[in-house]
Amino acid sequence: MEEILREKNIKVTDTRKEILRILSESKSAISYNTIQEKTALKLDKVTVYRTLDTFENKGIIHSIPSEDGIKLYSFCKDDCHDHDHDDNHVHFNCEMCNTTVCLYHVDIPSVELPKGYYMHSSKLIVNGICPECR
Ligand SMILES: [Zn+2]
Ligand SMILES: [Zn+2]
Ligand SMILES: [Zn+2]
Repeated sequence: MEEILREKNIKVTDTRKEILRILSESKSAISYNTIQEKTALKLDKVTVYRTLDTFENKGIIHSIPSEDGIKLYSFCKDDCHDHDHDDNHVHFNCEMCNTTVCLYHVDIPSVELPKGYYMHSSKLIVNGICPECR
């Protein structure tokens, strides 16, 4: 864990290590609330959000908008750098257990844009039922 922080030139703190640990142990994308549920530490709200921002800016995690407006966070698989994310995978939201997972190996199909529009990134969330709930 600490290595990831050092590699990205982020100062190692207990809060950062803890948030990173929770993110790495989670199989699905998680929200701020889940982080608070899973920690035994007393984490300050502002600090947690700032840490998540830092991690996202550094290409460690990416965020996924959820339908209820809550941001979810998940680890980046490979090739993400500072301010340069390459998370072109599909996200799947299970309507039964309400978990969102990264389908790292499913690419977002390319979209044909009208002339003059330039795509930077796109997010695709597929709603349905996951294998565990079927
Ligand atoms: Zn990324
Ligand atoms: Zn499910
Ligand atoms: Zn993802």
